[in-house]
Amino acid sequence: MDTQQEYDVIIAGSGLGGLTCAAILSKHGFKVCVLEKNKQIGGCLQSFSRNKTVFDSGVHYLGGLEPGQNLHQIFKYLGILDKIKLKKLDLDSFDRVSFRDDPKEYKLAQGYDRFIAELKNDFPSEEKAIREYCEMLKYICEKFPLYNLRMGGLEEKASMLHINAAEYIEGLSSNKRLAQVLSANNLLYAGVREKTPLYVHALVLNSYIESSWKCLDGGSQISKWIGRVITSNGGTILRYQDVKRIVAEGKDVQFMETADGSRFYGKSFISNIHPAVTMDILESDVVRQVYRNRIKNLENTNSAFIVNAVLKPACFPHMNYNVYYHDIEDTWGGHIYDENSWPGNYAMFISPDRHNPNYANSISVMTYMNIRELSEWQNTYNTVARPGNRGEDYEVFKSLKALKLLDLVYRKYPQLKVCIESFTASTPLSFRDYIGGDDGTAYGILKDCSDPFRTFISPRTKLNNLYLTGQNLNMHGILGVSMSALATCGEMIDMEQLLQEIKQA
Ligand SMILES: Cc1cc2nc3c(=O)[nH]c(=O)nc-3n(C[C@H](O)[C@H](O)[C@H](O)COP(=O)(O)OP(=O)(O)OC[C@H]3O[C@@H](n4cnc5c(N)ncnc54)[C@H](O)[C@@H]3O)c2cc1C
Repeated sequence: MDTQQEYDVIIAGSGLGGLTCAAILSKHGFKVCVLEKNKQIGGCLQSFSRNKTVFDSGVHYLGGLEPGQNLHQIFKYLGILDKIKLKKLDLDSFDRVSFRDDPKEYKLAQGYDRFIAELKNDFPSEEKAIREYCEMLKYICEKFPLYNLRMGGLEEKASMLHINAAEYIEGLSSNKRLAQVLSANNLLYAGVREKTPLYVHALVLNSYIESSWKCLDGGSQISKWIGRVITSNGGTILRYQDVKRIVAEGKDVQFMETADGSRFYGKSFISNIHPAVTMDILESDVVRQVYRNRIKNLENTNSAFIVNAVLKPACFPHMNYNVYYHDIEDTWGGHIYDENSWPGNYAMFISPDRHNPNYANSISVMTYMNIRELSEWQNTYNTVARPGNRGEDYEVFKSLKALKLLDLVYRKYPQLKVCIESFTASTPLSFRDYIGGDDGTAYGILKDCSDPFRTFISPRTKLNNLYLTGQNLNMHGILGVSMSALATCGEMIDMEQLLQEIKQA
């Protein structure tokens, strides 16, 4: 296939970033073509079903979807807001946090007033610290222009980038438990004690405190509906198209080539593929080795192991909040483990039974796992688009790990044990093969407060017509990636006008 000059913009990868760019640009009259290697579009938004139960591969809850909030406005502009089936999590707790040897559950509530009130119940003498923490989150978020759908420069946020999250939170008070509670859901951004900047914590937490929602019937609704926006604007989405080469001449990319040798020509190109992989497949004399090495040597966030369990009907009560549990002292330490200490923590996401909403029909339990544990199977590959068999040993490994993780969950929820009908597990290899990157990273490039500018990736590259998008730019997550897509599109269309359109949607 040769698509000489057929498109204005060719986009490699149909993650939320690629799809959002395609939707925005197609709304602005660009003829776009999205190339996706998988059978299903959406990257981390993909859902799958087991035993007639839908599971999410990577979106368990969303923030900022109340009228007037940032993601609400972006989804409204995209025309998908009223299409997605959402359920608001409990107002008094979108997350509940608990710790080994402590029967108490600490609630993180929606709305700053409620958030403060709930924490004050648990820490009556810490009101000052709790209020200071909330003010700091709001202050930081104000400094990020795109987060507030307005124009602005890097200098505004520069002073925020060096603050370390763990240090700040632990410095708020001498109450160790309060610091553990405030950092307990750092699996949301794969926090690393020495590195994770406070701004990462603030942007994520603020959006959930503002409002927290769950997608009923899977996060793939988001990609499905954005996909429809693209095609209804004349755009094209091609699946089973594994981009293997991005070929430039001088300062311009000429075409992208997929595994079967098809070439896609366009005026501009966007890569939603991990920047390190983008560098590997980019053929250009202009992009120097120093730049490539800088990108390729950036550390990624840790990977995850997830157990997805189908529950027996009317057995386990539905809890309309997420659970974060820590079996170890250091809430930032779950990714540092050995065979005996794994799993150090977990997050549990619960889905209601549609026919009997007082009960849960499934749970997903997520913890850290390093891809090094899977070195035995590193040369295997398995996706729906390119099926492979990792062998019986791999299945045994997954089952043993899943049972170990579930054992930790049963400690807090013993009644769950008899409610599990069946379970499957995904490993860092699943993330590697379905999303890309070589280490199965959950959220892409790890932000580092000691050298923040090094971990910022610009949507612009050294080539005139090649741009980057996705979670590796500004931030991961549905909100973060939507912001990254705005930044990428702002390189091709008038950003001020785009932000106006979004605000007026
Ligand atoms: C386990 C997990 C849980 C998460 N939970 C939440 C949550 O609860 N809330 C939240 O807001 N966010 C969550 N996230 C984060 C969020 O899902 C991601 O940040 C976001 O979806 C990433 O979007 P992206 O645009 O970077 O693309 P990605 O999702 O990284 O997708 C990249 C796409 O590019 C495609 N691709 C790669 N290489 C090629 C190639 N060579 N040719 C063609 N196509 C290619 C891939 O197949 C994929 O479709 C979670 C992520 C994970 C992993």
